[in-house]
Amino acid sequence: MAKRDYYEVLGVTRDADAGAIKKAYRKLAVKYHPDKNPDNKAAEEKFKEAAEAYEVLSDPQKKGRYDRFGHAGMGQGGGGFNGGMTMEDIFSQFGDIFNDSPFESFFGSRGRSRGGATSRGQRGSNLRIKVALTLDEIENGVTKKIKVKKQITCNTCHGSGAKDSSSVSTCNTCRGSGFVRQVKNTFLGQMQTTTTCPTCNGSGQEITAKCTKCRGEGVNFGDETIEIEIPAGVEEGMQLSMRSAGNMGKNGGPSGDLLISIEEKPHEFLQREGNNVVFPLYVNFADAALGTSLEVPTINGRVKIKIPAGTQAGKIFRLKGKGLPSVQGYGKGDQLIHLNVWTPKDLSSEERKMLERMKELPNFQPNPKKGEKGFFERMKDYFA
Ligand SMILES: [Zn+2]
Ligand SMILES: [Zn+2]
Repeated sequence: MAKRDYYEVLGVTRDADAGAIKKAYRKLAVKYHPDKNPDNKAAEEKFKEAAEAYEVLSDPQKKGRYDRFGHAGMGQGGGGFNGGMTMEDIFSQFGDIFNDSPFESFFGSRGRSRGGATSRGQRGSNLRIKVALTLDEIENGVTKKIKVKKQITCNTCHGSGAKDSSSVSTCNTCRGSGFVRQVKNTFLGQMQTTTTCPTCNGSGQEITAKCTKCRGEGVNFGDETIEIEIPAGVEEGMQLSMRSAGNMGKNGGPSGDLLISIEEKPHEFLQREGNNVVFPLYVNFADAALGTSLEVPTINGRVKIKIPAGTQAGKIFRLKGKGLPSVQGYGKGDQLIHLNVWTPKDLSSEERKMLERMKELPNFQPNPKKGEKGFFERMKDYFA
């Protein structure tokens, strides 16, 4: 299903300031809060949708990218990124939006401020990597398999943090459910809130002896091969993010994100200019005068082009649609062929004589009868 426009989701205009955006989000978050809408899937979706919109529009960098590129700029165009926020993400990231309001109790019990420790353990840190792409990969989009060093599940205890199976027992506080329920009085009336069990941090289990390899944290440094889907049309300096593909959190905390910086590998012949690619073509003077046809490189394969007789240096030929797609997913750039005439150097005496003879030929001067009068004469007049 196509994503709704984030401004539309929050019901604000595109020029809304940070305060208005926050206010609009707060209103929706209260309306669709799961504690007010128990077992209501539609409300949960609305709640998540609003959080996602707020995540982008409250971050000046992300907002800027969204304003320019739309959803595609957020890395979702390729399909692999930001597969929606989980409820846990929302509470851990935006819980503090209500800290200065009477709504505090809604979120206060679910998690703490962004980036900090949630009640279920410590969030993993974000991981940054660079990915260098060829023009061909940028044109088509590409799935890269990249081996990264990061915090992964401890392979000794398989993430449990326990020394062995005998050192795990059911949590007494929550009797293994991982949650404790509380009834709170708020100005909207009595609300039942569900809180992660403080004793077992939500695991439902108590550990009596810790895994010695990870010291009970459940994570360790190791290699992981990550598949990264990169949408077509990205450019140098862009940053994509893959939610929860960063370092794994300790003690069952959520994973950090993987942030991917795009780099472009130089092409042997083609230079990128926005969504166009430029190819500087050199032909010799005789070919420019006589006309010729030749093959030029494009991003995908060769294309034959015709240079008409009498083509001047500086002429630009355009191969429509042979450039790069826009990252928003519509439109495509062109390939521009800049024609240069190769001037011979280190002439032999025979070549020199030939050129000196050619120089005197009438056709080697601009022809006034063809409307070419002017340049040399004008220069003469100018310096006279
Ligand atoms: Zn371990
Ligand atoms: Zn417990």
